[in-house]
Formats: sequence, C-alpha cells, structure tokens
Amino acid sequence: MAKTARKASKGTAKAAKKKSTKAVKASKGKAGKMIYFFGAKKCDGDGTMRALLGGKGANLAQMTKIGLPVPPGFTITTDVSVDYTATRKFPEGLADQIAANVKLIEKETGKKFGDPANTLLLSVRSGARDSMPGMMDTILNLGLNNETVVGLAEATGNGRFAYDSYRRFIQMYGDVVMGVQKVHENEHEPFEEVMDGLKHQLGITEDLDLTEEHLRELIKRYQQLIKQRTGKEFPQDPMEQLIGAVAAVFDSWMNERAIIYRRKYKIPDEWGTAVNVQAMVFGNMGDDCATGVAFTRDPATGEDVFYGEYLINAQGEDVVAGVRTPKPVAEMAHDPGFASTYKELEKVRATLEKKFGDVQDFEFTVEKKKLYMLQTRNGKRTALAYVKIAHDMVKQKLMKPEHAILSADPDALSQLLAPIFDRKAYAAAGKEGRLLTTGLPAGPGAASGKLVFTADKAEQLGSAGESVVLARIETSPEDLRGMIAAEGILTSRGGVSSHAALVARQMGKVCVAGAGEIVIDYSKGTLSCAGKTLKEGDAISINGSTGEVFAGAIDTADSELKQVLVSGTMKPEDSEVYQYFAFVMKLADKYRRLGIRTNADTPEQVRQAIAFGAEGIGLTRTEHMFFEGDRIDAMREMILAENIEARREALAKLLPFQREDFEGIFRALEGRPATIRFLDPPLHEFVPHDTTAQKELAAKLGISTSAVAKRVAALHEFNPMLGHRGCRLGISYPEISEMQARAVFEAAAKVQKDGIKVRPEIMIPLVGFKKELDNQVEIVHAVAKQVQQETGQKIKYLVGTMIEIPRGALTANEIAETAEFFSFGTNDLTQTCLGMSRDDSATFLPMYTEMGIVKANPFASIDTTGVGQLMKIGVERGQETRPDIKLGICGEHGGEPHSVVFCHEIGLDYVSCSPYRVPVARLAAGQAALKHGK
Ligand code: ADP
Ligand code: MG
Ligand code: MG
Repeated sequence: MAKTARKASKGTAKAAKKKSTKAVKASKGKAGKMIYFFGAKKCDGDGTMRALLGGKGANLAQMTKIGLPVPPGFTITTDVSVDYTATRKFPEGLADQIAANVKLIEKETGKKFGDPANTLLLSVRSGARDSMPGMMDTILNLGLNNETVVGLAEATGNGRFAYDSYRRFIQMYGDVVMGVQKVHENEHEPFEEVMDGLKHQLGITEDLDLTEEHLRELIKRYQQLIKQRTGKEFPQDPMEQLIGAVAAVFDSWMNERAIIYRRKYKIPDEWGTAVNVQAMVFGNMGDDCATGVAFTRDPATGEDVFYGEYLINAQGEDVVAGVRTPKPVAEMAHDPGFASTYKELEKVRATLEKKFGDVQDFEFTVEKKKLYMLQTRNGKRTALAYVKIAHDMVKQKLMKPEHAILSADPDALSQLLAPIFDRKAYAAAGKEGRLLTTGLPAGPGAASGKLVFTADKAEQLGSAGESVVLARIETSPEDLRGMIAAEGILTSRGGVSSHAALVARQMGKVCVAGAGEIVIDYSKGTLSCAGKTLKEGDAISINGSTGEVFAGAIDTADSELKQVLVSGTMKPEDSEVYQYFAFVMKLADKYRRLGIRTNADTPEQVRQAIAFGAEGIGLTRTEHMFFEGDRIDAMREMILAENIEARREALAKLLPFQREDFEGIFRALEGRPATIRFLDPPLHEFVPHDTTAQKELAAKLGISTSAVAKRVAALHEFNPMLGHRGCRLGISYPEISEMQARAVFEAAAKVQKDGIKVRPEIMIPLVGFKKELDNQVEIVHAVAKQVQQETGQKIKYLVGTMIEIPRGALTANEIAETAEFFSFGTNDLTQTCLGMSRDDSATFLPMYTEMGIVKANPFASIDTTGVGQLMKIGVERGQETRPDIKLGICGEHGGEPHSVVFCHEIGLDYVSCSPYRVPVARLAAGQAALKHGK
C-alpha cells in the first residue's frame, strides 16, 4: 500500500516537471499552443481542458461545442500566465498570435477592431482553473476610443448607448489597467466621485438620466482624472489597449485579494489564470436588451426551480455589482418583450444540466431579443443545497454519483450543524416588534451578534472571539477579510447574485442581501430602518433563510440534523435535510476504504459520534476523567503521596471511577473497538498552583501546606511538553498503569458478561524506544491475566502505541515487534518534528502563513512534506516487522479533509476525529478513494 502511494507521488512529480518544461517551451513561442479559439467555424478547446484554459475558457468552448449561442473569442492559456508571472514579459510571438485571433473574431462577426465604420469591441476576462468570485477584473467595451465611439453612435443610431459604453470602458480600464483606484476603505471610487460630482452639478440622481451630452462631458473628465493620477494619456490604439488589458489580467493573479482567496481555499499560486478575449454583445442597447445571472436550481435551498435575476437595458456588471436591484428571472416569463427569450432560457437550463451533469451558474445577455451565453460553471451552493441537489440529481440520473461525492466541500457539511434561531426567542422577537425589515435570503442559518460596518472592525472583534454581523451598503472583494470574520453579513443593496451573496454562499455564512429599506451611514456608524437606529456595537440578528433582520439579540437553537442525530427531538422521517444528508453519507461510505473512528471521552460523546457514523473510538483520553467531581482529590492525593503504599491507596480510590467510565464507554460502543490511551499529561497539570488552593488541599489531605507547595515546586518543568509525561509516567509509577489496566479489564469483563462484545485496544503514549513499550506492555499483560483469572472472562485485546515523536517513527520496525497497532499522534508529532510548540505558535505562525513560509497551519492540516514523511516511514517500517499492523491517526488532523486524503494515500486503516467532524471525515475518505483508488 505504502509503496504504491510512493509511486503515485513520484508520478505526480513527473507530471509537474513535464508541465513546467511545457511552460518554458511556450515562452519560446515554438511548441505549446498559446491560444485556443472558440467560434462557430473553429473551436479548439472543450470542457475537459480546465487546467489549461481555466474554468471559464473551457466552458465557453464546451458551450460553443454543444451549440449554445456564445459570442466568438479566444483563450490565452494558463501556461502563458505562469510564464509571464516568472518573467514579467509576454512570451515571444504572443502579441502576433493575439492579433491573428482577433482577425478570426472579425471574420465570424463581420466587424473590424478599431474601424469606426463597423467597430468590433471586445471583453477581456480572467478565468482561473477554479472560479474565484470577484478576484479578477473584467474589462468590457475594449476597442472604443475617441473615433470608434463616434462610429458606434452612428451605426447603432444610439449615441447615448455608445458614449455610455465608452465611459464604462474608460472607468474599468482606468481602474484595472492604469491603477486609478481609491486609497481608503470608506472613500468613494475616484471615477464614481467624478460621476457623482457631475450629477450633483446637473441636479440628476439616476445614471439613466445622463444624456449623451452629459456622458461626453463625463468622458472628458474621466480622461482628465487618468492624466492627473497617472501622468499618462488614456490609450487610443485598440491593440495597445488589448495588450495592456491582457497583461493586467496576468498581474491581477498576484494581487492581494487573489492571494488571500487562494490561501483560504488552498489554491496553488502555480496554477495561473487564463485570459479570455471575446466579442462584446450588448444588454444595454435599449429596452429590448437585458442581462442576467441564473442558476439551474436554487443554490441556497437546492430546490429544483429556475433561479436568478435580470436587468433590462444593462450591462452584465450591473447585476453582479449590486448597484441596481434586479428582477427575479421567473418574472421574465410574464414580460411580453422577453417571453420568447424566457422559453429559450428554460431550454438552455435543461441542456446545461444534462450536458454538464451538475447545477450550473450561468451568465447571459440579450441583445435586441437575441440570447447570448457568456459563462457557465458548476454553481456554488450552501451545504443544504449540496445535499439536496446531490440526492435529487443522482436520482434523476442527471448527476454521476461519483461527481456528487467528488464535488463536495467536506468542511462545509458543518453548516448543516449550524444553529437556527431558537423557536421561542424568535417568535418573541417578532411579537416585540423587533423585526426591522426583510431582505433577500442569501445564505441560510441564523446569526446574532454585534453590528459592525467595516472589515477591520469585524476582524478585530471576531478575532477577540465576539460574534459580529457585518453590515455594508454592498460588499466588494476588499471586505473579504471582514466577511470571513463575521458570523453574518447584511447588505442594503444588491440581489441574490451580488458579491455578498456569492461569497456568503461559498463560505457558508449567514447572509441577508439587498435589504433596501435599511439606511447605512458609514460616517456616523449607524444603521437605520423602520424608525429605529442601531449604532456600531449594538446587537442585531439576521435570518439568512428568510431574509429577516431583527434589532437585538435572539438565542439560537440546534439545527434539524442535530435534533435528529444528537438530541433525538426530531424523527428522521420528519426531516428532509436528514434524509438528504443520509443519502450522501451512504454514497460516500460506498466508495471509502478508510475506517472512521472518533476521539471521545464519555459515553455521551460516543453515542453522538456513532449517530454521525463513527465505527469505533480512535482515542479516549483517560486523564479527562480525573477532573470530574471529587476524583481530582484522589488524583492529587496520589500525586502527593510520599511512598508507593500511599500512592496505591490513592489509586485504589480512583479505580472504581475509571472502571465505571470504561464500562459506560464499552456499553455505548456496542461491540465497536475502543482505543484507550494511558495517562499522558505531566502530573503538575493536576495540582493547584496558587496558595489558597494549596492550603485547601493540604487541609483536605491532612498534611502541611508547605509539603504541598514543595511537591508542586518539584513537579515544575521548564518544558513540560518534552518533560515527564506519556509513558515516562507509567514507567516511573508502574502502579498508575496497573490501575488503569485493571480498570479497563474489569470493565470489559463486566460488560462482556452481559453479552456485549468488547474490543479494548490499549495505547501507550509518547513511545520513542521499544523498551519503553515493552515495560508497559508487560504490566498490561500481567494485569489482564489476573483479571481473566479473577472473573473467568477471556478478553480479546490489543496493545499498541502512539507514534508521536520522531524517534518512534524512525524505529517503528523495532517498536512493531511489540506493538500490535500504531496510531499517529499528529499533534505531538507535528510539534516535535517542527520543533514548534502548538500553544506558543500563535505569535509567529500567522506571519508564516502570510509570508508563505508554511502553506497552511500545520496544526490544522498535516504538513505532508515534513511530518508526512515521518508518517510514511512509520508505516513502512512498522509493516516490515508486522505486515498486518493496524494503522490509524488520532491527532486533530483526522477530521481535516486534506489530511484525511493523505492518510488514505499512505495506507492507514482508519482516521479518528471529534464526533462532529465524523461526517466531514466520511465524505473526505470517499473522495480520497475516488481520487486515488481504494
Ligand atoms: P467574473 O469572472 O467576475 O464573473 P466575467 O468575465 O464573467 O467576470 O465578466 C463580468 C461581466 O462582464 C459578466 O457579468 C458579463 O456579463 C460581462 N461580459 C463579459 N464578457 C462579455 C461579452 N463578451 N459581452 C457582454 N458582456 C460581457
Ligand atoms: Mg462571470
Ligand atoms: Mg500526544
């Protein structure tokens, strides 16, 4: 198993090498096709070429191929961008090839680039392998200049349209390519400011009231603004415009927003972005034109309904930017001017689902009643929508079951466990008249917290552990940090396709968008609605499933899934969500090879984990049991004991507690295996450190305070993580291990006698030397024998060890002579491999992530290149000695999807994680098997 895994990783290394040589070739402009054309007469690419053409480019080609109406264009490959990022230069021959492909567009459209008589205009669009909403900037109407704009006005007989297109182009180009942008978060966009200035001067409020004359003036002012800010003229040569725009798209791959996004979603910098250059079509030529965004199903709930919105006489950006609030696409059916377009769209909807095998999120534009498709991609969806869509589309045979599993974001499943409003508190808030308004439900769930207006404030309070709701008039990519930190997001402008809604859906945030009655005043720091005014820091609550916004806090309650699986307050048959969830889980189970266990210390946790699908315990931490009630007294008595007799006496008091605990756990497990770890933390963690508590303890034990203080001082360690802990304790105080072994076996005997199977797996922590393990195993076997004699119960059990320090991994072949199983303790293994204390890493690790020194937090996601090697060595050497050795992981990483995939690849038998992560692990394990084979 491990060997195949090694081979496989070599394979990918080779592939990566191949790819980079290809990129080098492309830079020489000889081999390596740099540009792929898509059009009715010639279509070079298709939907499978995401890596090379980006998601947008590949799907534009695919839509062209299946006969959907796509304006012609071409895609410059991601290889070219990777090359450009390295050299900061266009590869040789690229400019010529761009020109040649523009000629092809001219041929298909019958228009000419830069010709005032019949001008071809282009859009320049970025498109990485995975869509990155809002990260890359699009430039529309490229090719317009002071002359072609006159031609366009004449040709269309619509001067207002022509000049409006030109001013939009200058604005976008000035912003994206020439860098004329706002400097502070709450400042206005410089171009918006110029426009607002003009409107104010003219006494106009709506953009649509600007006449051709006004727009000509605006264009002049825009060009002046650019000259002022950059010292350069706005370029008049269309080819120069095009080259500048292409370079700007490449550059934007490395802008801050894009980098933050990639870090959050673990997208490698090396992927690069493609550039799509496409003939423009116009949704803003008049009232028989429109533009829209739609989903083939509802991305918030998963309902099988056509979902989306459109704006008449508008250009695409207007829908997404949330500047005007659009109409629901369903209304189009009743709009006489667009009824036939609507019918056509319904057909497109069915075709897309059938041909792409998943819910599509697509963009369209209607130019003089003719429909054009501008983009399609698999729709981002909430976890709720994900499970419903997977269930429905697999049953409808529209989606492959493998795709249903592979396309999941396992982490997002935790959304299904996210709270909803407590029913009573919610009803009360309504009765008390705290409902302020209802906006658009854009990200389901309930959020209640402090109101904030800026991303900075959201981050600041969020990182201090406060729940916040971020309210913005509309959000932009600059707000991303704040949106990540906030519990919920509220906007007063924009529709269900606005930036806020899009991002919220993807991140699983509660979101209410476009609550138009709300007035947000950034400068005063207030939010007003329905005669009430809330200030920054006031409590506010939003319901992202209904769109409601309430003043004040509202208690939250358990989700349906929790009510079915955890509290039992709802029956499975009463919860649709539960049924969809169960369908997906069953499907994942069908594919996965890895077993799924849980880290649980109480019968209660065990039952929860089993309800979520756990197949046993991968880690029970016995020390947690010592803190409850008056057990801690017996524990302290044991620690403070002067001699072995006194210690045994104290341990005898602990024994019945431990036995009861294990008994409860064995019963809850109903025959499933339980890995039980012996005492691990250093003893000083159990003793009181302040004088008052020491005095109390001394009185309780009938010894002097100074004796207690002396013992506590003696237990002090400079570096407890590397001190007297783990098996080192059991070796110094064998009677502790004896007591623990006795508790396990007596409990096992008792439960087994009642006819319930028990499968204890005793785990010795922090082993680095085989002899350490031998020492403890001898105790375990001896006690087992005694208990079996005493009770007459023969108990099947295993003894193994945690592999959690590098020496343990390196000498795994020796340790496996004794150990019947290994469980990788990746928390300590990470600490000791990296020489980095998890508890002290907060001071520098965030900076390391920022600087790219580490790709992800190694305590959250396994450092596969470093720690992963130790694990592989542990696996290989362990199997050398004991081919059938049982292998698992019990560190926090066991519930993190990337780490789960890694555990599958190196051939572990199971992962273990906290009860609530079990569904995540099941799904990730299913994906791992589909990606890498069982
Ligand atoms: P994003 O990646 O942010 O979705 P897009 O490349 O899709 O950006 O472009 C943004 C908007 O520009 C889209 O909503 C689309 O409507 C509009 N657009 C892009 N290309 C064209 C085109 N060829 N004709 C008309 N509008 C276009
Ligand atoms: Mg788009
Ligand atoms: Mg450990």
